[in-house]
Amino acid sequence: MNFLHNLTGVFAMPAAENPTVEMVEAAYRHHGLRYRYLTCEVPPELLGDAVRGARAMGWVGFNCSIPHKVAVIQHLDRLGESASIIGAVNCAVMRDGELIGENTDGKGFLDSLRELTDPTGKRMVLFGAGGAARAIGVEVALAGAADITIVNRSRQRGEELTALLNEKTPTHAQFVSWDGDYDLPAGTDIVVNATSIGLFPDVDARVPVNVETLTPQMVVADVIPNPPRTRLLKDAESRGCTTLDGLGMLVNQGVIGIKYWTGIDADATVMTKRLAEIFGC
Ligand code: NDP
Repeated sequence: MNFLHNLTGVFAMPAAENPTVEMVEAAYRHHGLRYRYLTCEVPPELLGDAVRGARAMGWVGFNCSIPHKVAVIQHLDRLGESASIIGAVNCAVMRDGELIGENTDGKGFLDSLRELTDPTGKRMVLFGAGGAARAIGVEVALAGAADITIVNRSRQRGEELTALLNEKTPTHAQFVSWDGDYDLPAGTDIVVNATSIGLFPDVDARVPVNVETLTPQMVVADVIPNPPRTRLLKDAESRGCTTLDGLGMLVNQGVIGIKYWTGIDADATVMTKRLAEIFGC
């Protein structure tokens, strides 16, 4: 087997300590896969060269992170359905000589959510309108959620995501400007924090929501992988809600990427264990 034909990686900037690398390589080792997952620091002006290099070296695919998620699209051959609606790619896959752009963030979230509840026909409140929120909103909408309320600090981003969901997916979406503690409407089934509030080291930062309006029939999810047990999730647990942490989303997007690149269903427990070691939880 030629090693050069089994390279995957992440085009990131800067090349920071990357838990995803550890997680993916743990899965490759566990399954005895002769693949490598490398961190490559790619400056924005050389992104096209990096993608051409990956093609030339026979890479089976790669992840890309901020700031490359949108810019990479012009260098790919085509996009999967949700990546095309989201307008961002975090995972490229070589299939039959074509580099295809996918977005596994929302798909990873959806896989985690489905372990707890089927989003079909459900009402969701989504905090945030950045990259993670776009991916989650589109994927949950395509999965059949009936109604999505986007709650965001910046009106422009929030309205853009709301319009995108109404125009490109079958769901009904509305925007609420985030001003003080948000009262969750009665009848909400799923609550998602897709902002960066609570990410290490700001672990005590509070998602502005009226905790009294959290009720036991709600599934409350947080995208923050580190720490996995955020203040929001602790509050939700104390109110009797079912909770979902961001570690599952991170692991599942990795599982999906590995499936795309290698055809293998990676063992999520091995990947979760490696992340838990890194995050000390
Ligand atoms: P973006 O920068 O694209 O978006 C950030 C969002 O958070 C915006 O909606 C922003 O609002 C909002 N926000 C940030 N700070 C505040 C605040 N103090 N008050 C209110 N709103 C705030 O980031 P991403 O969407 O890419 O990432 C968001 C989080 O998701 C990150 O913490 C990241 O770690 C996590 N993530 C987790 C993944 C996983 O697999 N678990 C995968 C991808 C991301 P505004 O528009 O007003 O600025």
